[in-house]
Amino acid sequence: MAPRPFRLGRARTGLGIFATRPIKKRQTIAEYKGKMLGVEAAVKAEKSGNRYLYEVNSKWTIDGAKRGNIARYFNHSCNPNADTFIRGKRVFVRTIKNIEAGDEITYDYGRDYLKNVIGLENCQCSRCRKRRAKERAEARERSLRKKKRLAAATAKGKGKGVKKAAVRKSKKTVKSRKTKR
Ligand SMILES: [Zn+2]
Repeated sequence: MAPRPFRLGRARTGLGIFATRPIKKRQTIAEYKGKMLGVEAAVKAEKSGNRYLYEVNSKWTIDGAKRGNIARYFNHSCNPNADTFIRGKRVFVRTIKNIEAGDEITYDYGRDYLKNVIGLENCQCSRCRKRRAKERAEARERSLRKKKRLAAATAKGKGKGVKKAAVRKSKKTVKSRKTKR
């Protein structure tokens, strides 16, 4: 493989991989390297909290936790610009979009990892952050509209009427409670 077209850098979630020059799509850029674990060893590693396990097939899992495995630093994204593919028992990372210099390079870790390890609401990828920002903006918009409606109702005098009625009602309930005793 040619010299790496990327570097390790600070990402939103810790470290990440960033392109140092434009990379065309469908370029193999890294290999996910590590010790091959059988099923039993893989289960044990997972239980001990190893988050860098890549299940190659039903028999083999790559333990990519060693720092020498540069591919462990690719972060997850729900809208990635790379993915992984398997050749025999080896796993490679390739681009699926044209990438600009400076872009973070990410791949999709899959639904299970997102759900069980990251947590659906904790994903910090650009798509999820945009979605949550949009949801917050919509919620603000809704509460603003509600306030405006209430203000308009109060200005018309409707609001006052409602308030008075509410006060009368609460007085009544207090009275009735007292008489009961
Ligand atoms: Zn996401």
